[in-house]
Amino acid sequence: MDKSTKIIATVGPAVSTQKIMEDLLKAEVNVFRFNFSHGTHEEHLKKIRWAQGLMERGYRVALFADLGGPKFRLGEIEGGNIVLKRGQEFVLTTRKIKGNSKGAYAPLEAVIPYVKKGDIVLLADGTVQLEVQEVKEDAIITVVRMGGEISSHKGINIPSRMSGISAITEKDVEDIKFAIKAGISIFALSFVGSEHDVMRAREVVKGACGGKSMIISKIERHDAVVNFDNILESSDAIMIARGDLAVETPYSRVPILQKEFITKAREKCKPVITATQMLRSILFNPLPSRAEISDIANAVIDGSDALMLSEETAVARDPVHSVRVMKKVIVETERFLSKKTLIQPGGRAKDIGEQIASSAVEIACSLGAKLIITPTASGTTAMRISSRRPTAPIVAPTPCEVVYEFLNLCYGVYPIKVDVMDNFDDLINVVKATIFEKKLAKEGDLAVITAGYPFGKPYTTNMVKVERL
Ligand code: PGA
Ligand code: MN
Repeated sequence: MDKSTKIIATVGPAVSTQKIMEDLLKAEVNVFRFNFSHGTHEEHLKKIRWAQGLMERGYRVALFADLGGPKFRLGEIEGGNIVLKRGQEFVLTTRKIKGNSKGAYAPLEAVIPYVKKGDIVLLADGTVQLEVQEVKEDAIITVVRMGGEISSHKGINIPSRMSGISAITEKDVEDIKFAIKAGISIFALSFVGSEHDVMRAREVVKGACGGKSMIISKIERHDAVVNFDNILESSDAIMIARGDLAVETPYSRVPILQKEFITKAREKCKPVITATQMLRSILFNPLPSRAEISDIANAVIDGSDALMLSEETAVARDPVHSVRVMKKVIVETERFLSKKTLIQPGGRAKDIGEQIASSAVEIACSLGAKLIITPTASGTTAMRISSRRPTAPIVAPTPCEVVYEFLNLCYGVYPIKVDVMDNFDDLINVVKATIFEKKLAKEGDLAVITAGYPFGKPYTTNMVKVERL
């Protein structure tokens, strides 16, 4: 483990063989994202099976399905793309026409009743702006305010009319059922508006499998910014989805929102992902832009658990190169941080378990322990320790498959899957064997260990021990 901040790679057409997937893991990708806004179920299934095959061979990685949510997209454009000019009329219609410079198909049935004259419609990540002139039953007539190029399937955002729209679409329900069957238990929800969307998703997931699942809420619309605290409370993790967030809210606020959301997520001991355009120029140049180098470093310094690559791995010519570049910047930044500070969220511990997590980090730091070992049934203790950002890796044995996968998202956590957790000494022996095999530490190194008595029950962490391995 060369780095503590985790890397998420989006699996797309560029990840065209299982070998590339394996190379991504060797380059230290920790999580694969399957983006259900694109691709067919068959394509996803093939690659999910590749990843599962690699997991069986001993690679540690989490898989999650990113559900499309209520993101509207243009239909097909004749010839692929067109340029819209300022001042011209452009019609968005719910009729399935082939798009041209006069108008295009847009499945806006759900929002048309709420759209008003004067509303701004943004195309292609906000690069084209339209102003609504007239709303008909099956069409929105607009005039182009800021011109530019648009192409088939580009996104449509109507920020002023998103409020109240459910984040879970019929397609998402189908995708959840499919993904669960394929063995996925972590889901990202696009365009979450409130905690009710998260609860609704949990119901659908539960109905489809009945088992434990984890929900990542993507913060990318105005309502989500307003309802952030409640969304955080009801979710297992947060993604700062800067792509849509910078279109749906004033883009100038995004850097500060990023810092605010990371701080809040860490206070609640929940993992937080910083996403989108972290390395986008790599699609055109082998070297990152200076702004991107700084963005990656700053996202680490802000305290992200994980950084996400989108097109940079999904469609780039060399996805493994993208990961290597990102890792290089992360490693350098963490080296600096480990010398500078021990980042600790402020405030007092709320309960015994939190105090134990805090103390374990403090002891590990002052004694210069090589590792923190934290047996965890629910994942909570590992996440509490992780949120305090120790420099020592956090080895987290757990018997729960979903927890084992999910912990791959969390800063500094090295999850180990164990069969049972009913005897402390037996467990530590199993963990030690893995630690030595993976060269995480050697005999004689100092480790801080947390435990709960009675042992193996969730939410009982109440002891901390220091041991020479
Ligand atoms: P997307 O989400 O890539 O699914 O749009 C991330 C974002 O909007 O930043
Ligand atoms: Mn998005």
